[in-house]
Amino acid sequence: MSSADPNCIFCKIVAGQIPAKKVFEDDQLLAFHDIAPWAPVHVLVIPKQHIATLADVGPEHDALLGRMLGLAPQLMKQLGVTGGFRTVINTGPDGGQEVYHLHMHVMGGPRPWAKG
Ligand code: 5GP
Ligand code: ZN
Repeated sequence: MSSADPNCIFCKIVAGQIPAKKVFEDDQLLAFHDIAPWAPVHVLVIPKQHIATLADVGPEHDALLGRMLGLAPQLMKQLGVTGGFRTVINTGPDGGQEVYHLHMHVMGGPRPWAKG
């Protein structure tokens, strides 16, 4: 397992060094509300281990990635989203990634809020 990056804001959230509105936590994953939501419900699902981007994963991460994706419908149900939702993983500079700790955006709630 990769160790935490002391300069990484999401590692600090995992460590409890900065606060977040958590909606799910287990030994591998953490999910919390995005600080600047693009949608009525906008959560981020992250692995607790520091993986910078989706481009850094290998076959050893298959199960972890599967769990991240599988958590999305569970969280949306938990948060009362009934009309569907959107999942996004921005990867690298051309992918618009701003925080370099792998995270999946999960966004739901009544439209319109995000075209395209
Ligand atoms: P990216 O552009 O890297 O895919 O998305 C990063 C996301 O992290 C953004 O939507 C941004 O609002 C969110 N974010 C950045 N810093 C924090 C923080 O300290 N706390 C929370 N909850 N979200 C954050
Ligand atoms: Zn990190």
